[in-house]
Amino acid sequence: MNIVDMQPGRMAAGDLSGKVAIVTGSTSGIGLGIARALASAGATLVINGLTKLDEAEAVRSELTMIGARPVFYSPADMSDAVSIEGMIEMTLESCGRIDILVNNAGIQHVAPIDAFPVEKWNRILAINLTSAFHTTRLALPHMRAMRWGRIINVASAHGLVGSAFKSAYVAAKHGIVGLTKVTALETAEDGITCNALCPGYVYTPLVEAQIDDQATAYDLPRERVVREVLLAKQPNKRFATVEEMGAIVRFLASDAAASITGIALPADGGWTAQ
Ligand code: NAD
Repeated sequence: MNIVDMQPGRMAAGDLSGKVAIVTGSTSGIGLGIARALASAGATLVINGLTKLDEAEAVRSELTMIGARPVFYSPADMSDAVSIEGMIEMTLESCGRIDILVNNAGIQHVAPIDAFPVEKWNRILAINLTSAFHTTRLALPHMRAMRWGRIINVASAHGLVGSAFKSAYVAAKHGIVGLTKVTALETAEDGITCNALCPGYVYTPLVEAQIDDQATAYDLPRERVVREVLLAKQPNKRFATVEEMGAIVRFLASDAAASITGIALPADGGWTAQ
């Protein structure tokens, strides 16, 4: 038995000190919420996102204050395999290991299938699905060498059910749920777990912008847009928070979650119970 397995205090607290975590797409929204949760658990972080350097630096210094651990920023573009290889190399050079990999970067485009721009389809598949294949294949040998690893793929309720006009997003999110299962099976004896988190609507800057857009489009007050348009399929009628997503990922990354692997965990207010 690994010595880590015999430390009940560490297990209870979800202490991640000494661990190195990569969180893709963590300069904003859910990824930033996850990065904050892992930093406060003591992990050393590699953050990533397509953003201006001064904004990335502001996030980096905020996370350093939270965790009092080094935080590195990778500008890697998740649509590009070579760029992803650079992020993994930088992590190994700077931190010497990879313990936790959170594949979170994602984009959306909404259009009917027969009018869906081919370029958008390719980009959504590349960022929301193929990037996780690359990060996973590159991180696994290092996790296997340590006989410990946690891979958490941020999928969506749309990894479990469909919605009209979101063909590329739903296909990519179903795909990442499949990749999660296969990764879990191939690593089950190696001390590594791989799970998918399937949020419903989470309150992020992206969602805030949609409220105003939809309020204008439907000529409805914000409260009705939230309840009747955005949260129409979400029975609890409230947005989840990025802090809730961070807490779930922190748990899945902990030793307490060692037996949880290959699942697609809905955090969707009952959406997929219907
Ligand atoms: P967001 O737009 O706030 O953040 C997306 C992050 O990904 C940003 O840091 C952005 O810079 C980064 N990113 C985008 N393209 C990139 C690229 N090519 N390379 C590197 N980084 C890139 O979005 P969010 O709402 O926080 O979503 C994060 C994840 O959660 C996505 O995978 C999304 O599908 C999923 N999700 C979101 C919701 C929701 O309601 N917000 C619900 C379910 C699932």
